[in-house]
Amino acid sequence: MNARHEQSGLVDLALFGGRKRFTVPKSTSNLVQPSIERFLDYARPMFDPPGNASGGTSVVAARLETRLAQFHEVARCVTFCSGFWALATSIVELARPGRREVVMPSLTYRRMADVVAWTRLVPRFCEVDPATLAISAETAAACVGPDTALLLAVHPIVNCCDASGLVELAADSGLPLLFDGVESVYERCPDGRGVSRKVGAFGDAECFSLHASKLVNGFEGGYVTTDNEALADRLVALRDGGSNAPGALDARLSDVHAAMALANLDELDAQVERNRSRYARYRRALSDLAGIRLVAFDESQPTSYKNIVVELLDDWPLPRALTIEILNAENVLARAYYAPPLHSKPMSYPHVSAVLPVTDRLAKRFMLLPCGEFVTLDDIDAVVDLLAFTRAHAHSILDADAARRAMR
Ligand SMILES: *Cc1c(COP(=O)(O)O)cnc(C)c1O
Repeated sequence: MNARHEQSGLVDLALFGGRKRFTVPKSTSNLVQPSIERFLDYARPMFDPPGNASGGTSVVAARLETRLAQFHEVARCVTFCSGFWALATSIVELARPGRREVVMPSLTYRRMADVVAWTRLVPRFCEVDPATLAISAETAAACVGPDTALLLAVHPIVNCCDASGLVELAADSGLPLLFDGVESVYERCPDGRGVSRKVGAFGDAECFSLHASKLVNGFEGGYVTTDNEALADRLVALRDGGSNAPGALDARLSDVHAAMALANLDELDAQVERNRSRYARYRRALSDLAGIRLVAFDESQPTSYKNIVVELLDDWPLPRALTIEILNAENVLARAYYAPPLHSKPMSYPHVSAVLPVTDRLAKRFMLLPCGEFVTLDDIDAVVDLLAFTRAHAHSILDADAARRAMR
């Protein structure tokens, strides 16, 4: 620890040798746990004598499918062992035969292009709407061409993409439309006809994840929702392998995972209520801090209040990477919002190269702050205090960081 840091007060920061503010890491994952009894109750049928299996899906997973179809207000739900396989199989089933390109955002989930490549289709990255940080009818339409096989719309981390606009684009262009609704599982969206519908009910199908980091924790897992019975049957067939053909898949969800997801669904509204108070605390604490804008939830519709996304404005005095480095050193596991964007990552598979200035600009501005069940209201105050300290000492931090780099 050097005298200069001591003088400037920077010894208070773990990055410069101080003690970490948090002894336990505070993550941006959810990690919600249901009551153990509830989980065990749902898991009980696994111990029933054999003969109770219902077709390709085991009993608990079948129960989860019924429950999720009701939850999303759709005809069918098909569960999978992960969100990845829910997406991959849906893309295979929905893509227009003989065409190769999947129109999708670049500012999105880091593995989204990998999923598309796995199906041997080609990602074609589109811009996002700066207001939603998501694909829109307009940004997607700019990428539609004679080789478009599928529109893959992904909901952003906070709020929803323009689902009804995209539905209209799909109808006008005669293209299949698949949504990734992972981050909007609890939300409703206007349907363009004056009514709102649950996310899960838009497009040809929507895909979700039950990973422990998501709103509905099934340890892991995924599912597809659709009103198209024939599509659901084809997804079940693909998921269950159903043949000895080479390359046949087995992507079923196990009963243990289904029991966990069912237990968490029972407690979902209570979780959202707790998310809401965490969000309110962030909103209050951040309102006094210049240079950082909290991305607000649209409270005109039901929303999960789960993820805390902030924008670093032009007058935030530090680069985002350094801000995140400072927070991470304190065990505050803040991270960049979907960075780098997919079109700028090295890719070993075919893709349409894209010039996306809006995405490039937005990809530098946002970050996620800790949220979920292991973050207390006091933790939130401490995180915001830390940001305020960082802002107040920005000049000495930049000096100390430059000195640190020079010494490497
Ligand atoms: C996590 C995630 C997935 C993939 O889900 P897994 O169950 O982890 O395979 C897909 N899309 C988005 C937006 C995600 O955040």
